[in-house]
Amino acid sequence: MPESDTRALAARRLAPLCLMLAVGSVLILLQDGAAGLNTGWEARFGPALSGLYAVAAALLWWRPRHMDAVVGVTLAFTGVYFLGALYEGARRDTAQGLYVVSANAQFLPLIYVGAFIALRRGAVWLSGALYLALLALYGALYRDIVQAGGAYQQLSGHVWAVLLLVHPGCILALQYITALRGRLQQAQREAHEGKERFLAMLSHEIRSPLQSMLGSIDLLALRLHDDPGRRAVDRLRRAATQLEAHLRDVTEYTRLENPDWRLHEEDTDVAQLVQEVCDQMAPLAEHKRLALHCRLAEAAPGEPPLGIQTLDPVRVRQILINLLSNAIKYTPDGEVTVHAALHPAGARPTRLRIEVADTGIGIDPAQQHRIFEPHVRLEDPRGERVGGSGLGLAVVQRLVQRLQGHIDVDSLPGHGTRFTVTLPLRARGAPPV
Ligand code: ADP
Repeated sequence: MPESDTRALAARRLAPLCLMLAVGSVLILLQDGAAGLNTGWEARFGPALSGLYAVAAALLWWRPRHMDAVVGVTLAFTGVYFLGALYEGARRDTAQGLYVVSANAQFLPLIYVGAFIALRRGAVWLSGALYLALLALYGALYRDIVQAGGAYQQLSGHVWAVLLLVHPGCILALQYITALRGRLQQAQREAHEGKERFLAMLSHEIRSPLQSMLGSIDLLALRLHDDPGRRAVDRLRRAATQLEAHLRDVTEYTRLENPDWRLHEEDTDVAQLVQEVCDQMAPLAEHKRLALHCRLAEAAPGEPPLGIQTLDPVRVRQILINLLSNAIKYTPDGEVTVHAALHPAGARPTRLRIEVADTGIGIDPAQQHRIFEPHVRLEDPRGERVGGSGLGLAVVQRLVQRLQGHIDVDSLPGHGTRFTVTLPLRARGAPPV
C-alpha cells in the first residue's frame, strides 16, 4: 500500500478517536460544571477544545490528506489546554488539584494513541513530556494530600498506580507497536523491491527478444505477398503485441503494490499525448476495420483548449492505452471514439475528462462492478475467446485512484461501452498530491 494510502487509513482510524474525545470532554465539562469542579480555565476554553475535536474528527474523515496539519493543531491546543488546567488546578485547593490530575490521567492515554498513530516522529517525546508534566504536578501536590489524609490519601493510591503503571505501560506498548509496524513496513518494502527487481529483469529478458521478433515479423510481412502467409504473420504479430501488453500490465500492477510508488508529474501537452496514443492504436483498429475517432477539445467550438497540464504523462498514457485497446478488442464492428476535454467549460476548468466509447459487445450491468477486480474476465456473449490478462482495468482503476480521479463505466450489452475518466487538474507549480 503506498504511503499516501496508509496515511489516509491512519486518518480514518483517528477520526472516531477524535469524536470520542469531543463527546467525552463535553460530558466531563458538563458533569464537572454541575458539581462546581471546573477551573476557570476549563470553563473558558473547554468548550472550544471539544469543538476543535469535533471539527478535527470531521476533517480527518473527509479530508484525510490534511492529517498532519489537523493533528498538529489539535495536539498543540490540547497541550496548552492541559498545561493551563494543571497550573490552575495546582493553584487551587488540594481537592481541586487532585481532581484535575486524576481527570487528566484518564484522558491522556487517548492523546498518546493519537500522537502515535498520526506523527511520523516525536510521538514518544510529546507523550513523555505531557506525562512528566502531569507527574510533576502530582508530585508537587502530594505533600498536601498526605497532610489532608483520609479519603484524599486513599484516592491518591489509585492515582499513583495509574500514573506509574498505566501511563508508562501505555507509552511503551505504543512505542513497541510503532517499532514493530516500522519493521513490518520495511520488510514489506524489501519484499516488494525484490519482486519488482525480479519482474523488471524478467520483463527485460522477455521484452528484448520480443521487440526483435516484432521487427522480424514486420520485415516478413513486407516480403510476403500471398494471402495465407500474410494472415499467419498477422496472427503472429497480434500474439506478440498481446504478450507485450500483458507483460506491461503485470509489471505495472506489481509496481502499484509497492508502498513507495510515486507519481512523476511534469508539464504535459495533453492534446499531443492523447493524439499520440490514438496514432499508436490506429493500426489495431485498422486491422479490425474499425473507425477510430480522436476528438480533442481544441477542435470543438466552445470547449477550452486542453493546453499544458501538470500530470504524470506515463500513467495517463497507460490508462488511455488500456481503455483504448479494450475498446478495440471488444468491438467486432463499428467505431471507437476518444474524447478529451477540460471541465467545467470556462476560464477555470478543474478537471480533465477523457471518454473512451465503443460500439462493441457491451458489459452486462450485473457484472459491471466486477470488471475492475484483478484477473476477472467476463464471458464473451459471442462465445469468442479474446486474449487478455484480466489486469488491464485493475491497473486503470488503481492508477486513476492514485491520480485522485475517478472512473465510471456506462454500457449497454450489444450496443457498446463508455468509460469516463475524470482527473483533477493541479495549478502548474502546485505541490504534488
Ligand atoms: P482483459 O485483459 O480481459 O481485457 P481487463 O481488466 O482489461 O482484462 O477487462 C476485464 C473484463 O472487462 C474483460 O475481460 C471484458 O470482459 C470486460 N471489458 C473491458 N473493457 C470492455 C469493453 N470496452 N467492452 C466490453 N467489455 C469490456
